[in-house]
Amino acid sequence: MQSRPPSDTPTIFPVTDALPPCPKCSSEYTYEMGALLVCPECAHEWSPEDEAADAPKVTRDAVGNVLADGDDVVVVKDLKVKGSPTSFKVGTKVRGIRLAEGVDGHDIDCKVDGFGQMQLKSSVVKKA
Ligand SMILES: [Zn+2]
Repeated sequence: MQSRPPSDTPTIFPVTDALPPCPKCSSEYTYEMGALLVCPECAHEWSPEDEAADAPKVTRDAVGNVLADGDDVVVVKDLKVKGSPTSFKVGTKVRGIRLAEGVDGHDIDCKVDGFGQMQLKSSVVKKA
C-alpha cells in the first residue's frame, strides 16, 4: 500500500478555550484549577481526565462493529501463530470471544479449534 502524498491544503482547526460545562449544574462558567475543573456556581470540582477514564471501554472490530463477550468473529487477516507451524487464514471462525485487557493490544481472549486458547487483536477480526 502506498502512502498518500500530503494534501496541498492543510486543515487548520481553530483553538478554542471552551471548557466542558459543569456535570452537576450544567454551568458554562467553569474554569481550570490545575488539573481540575471547577464550577463557580455549585462549587463542584472534577477532573476531566477521570470523566474520560470512567467511560466504558468499547472494543471494536476491524470495520467498527462493537464487540461483546460471547460474540462470534471471523479473522480478516492471515495471522502467524507463535509456536505453531500453521497460521490463521482469513475467514477462520472464532466462536465465543471474551473481551480482555491483553498485552500489546491483544484485547480478545478466545479458543480456536486446533489452536486452543489464544489472544487476538480486535483489529484483525470482524463480527460474524
Ligand atoms: Zn456546577
